[in-house]
Amino acid sequence: MNIEAYFKLTYGLYIIATKLNDKRNGYIANTAFQVTAEPSQIAISCSKDNYTCLMIRQSGIFSISILSQDASAEIIGLFGYNTGEKLDKFKSISFTESKTGSPIVTEDCIAWFDCKVNQQIDVGSHILFIASIEENELIDHISKPLTYAYYHEVKKGRAPKNAPTYIDESKFSTKEQSKATPSTKHKCLACGYVYDADEGDSESGISPDTSFEELPEDWICPTCGSSKDVFEAI
Ligand code: FE
Repeated sequence: MNIEAYFKLTYGLYIIATKLNDKRNGYIANTAFQVTAEPSQIAISCSKDNYTCLMIRQSGIFSISILSQDASAEIIGLFGYNTGEKLDKFKSISFTESKTGSPIVTEDCIAWFDCKVNQQIDVGSHILFIASIEENELIDHISKPLTYAYYHEVKKGRAPKNAPTYIDESKFSTKEQSKATPSTKHKCLACGYVYDADEGDSESGISPDTSFEELPEDWICPTCGSSKDVFEAI
């Protein structure tokens, strides 16, 4: 089995959200795809360990918001690397409510779909939800959608462990592992982003050859928005 072949599959990145009773919740998925055009149906694959998954099983509704390529590290961190069990992820972001009742994230997103579940298929670790599209909207026709490849290569992010496409890093090729030099690299324990002192962090204005210790105390992970204390030397 060649793990690197999996990297050749292409994906987008989406915020999936639902509402059950008065509780709103959502997470970031990289699997959402249209399965039929007539009637218009869409499918998502959601981990059973994901709190939103448990909620969708009961609510039977969800929304899909397509993230913009310029989406902030904060919104990716909020929805991608936190559980909504005790946290209200909708407290500080812009959203609207759909016809079905699902919250729809509009911040940093370029289009959305409001969906009603038709079928739930148990595929082991995940549930495949197949849903009809009740309503949709294009918010921004100029910005590009964020793809998983861009997130991985440019924003240096990795799939969270609940993603259907998550790959255990210990299975990476030795070629990739050998790039690590313990004294200059620090890894974000929340999302897997690696700060490389040789490269710095151009998005935050940090020049190359800035050691992790020299980073300002308010510097945050450019991928998920976590603070410096979530990092460890590798
Ligand atoms: Fe991070």
